[in-house]
Amino acid sequence: MQINNYEKFLESINEDLRKIFEYQKEYIYCKKGCSYCCERGDYPISELEFKYLMLGYEKLEPDIKEEIKKNIKKLKNGNKESYVCPFLINKSCSVYKNRPIVCRTFGVLTEDAKGNPSFPFCTTKGLNFSKIYDKKNKRLSSELVYKNNFKIFPKIFCLSNKVVMNLPLAKELGIDFGEAKKMIDFLIK
Ligand code: SF4
Repeated sequence: MQINNYEKFLESINEDLRKIFEYQKEYIYCKKGCSYCCERGDYPISELEFKYLMLGYEKLEPDIKEEIKKNIKKLKNGNKESYVCPFLINKSCSVYKNRPIVCRTFGVLTEDAKGNPSFPFCTTKGLNFSKIYDKKNKRLSSELVYKNNFKIFPKIFCLSNKVVMNLPLAKELGIDFGEAKKMIDFLIK
């Protein structure tokens, strides 16, 4: 029941995100095969998301599971703050349907803890929102929005896990996300 309701919740989140990406499409360069978002991060997720992620993992072919296990093993001795997601196989998410919420928000302009715009990692690689990024001051540049003749001013969305998990729909569906922590903390015990 919990998983069914979580899937309903995800449907709604996916639709909202589809609109967000569509609205800002002139700034977005996401395409199949690009995996920058999954190559550097700590991927905060909840217990429920982890459970759902592992349901996806269980359905994978044995050789892919083996690769993931090896990736997880490597994480034990690596940088635990910023790492390549162990579920990223051949530059593609092996558990795409079951990926956590944070992965669904990758690529958009969000708000950091202080309410300032937080650019996706790929901005510095010349991709999403790079044309309006003031490299020197590391901030959004309104001048660049006008100079580049963008039709809309980009919106900053507050998509932190805390916000998403407290959406009215989550309460309506009785979703209990459980404790949230970095993905690595679920994987390495
Ligand atoms: S779970 Fe999938 S989408 Fe999320 S960071 Fe890992 S590879 Fe990327």
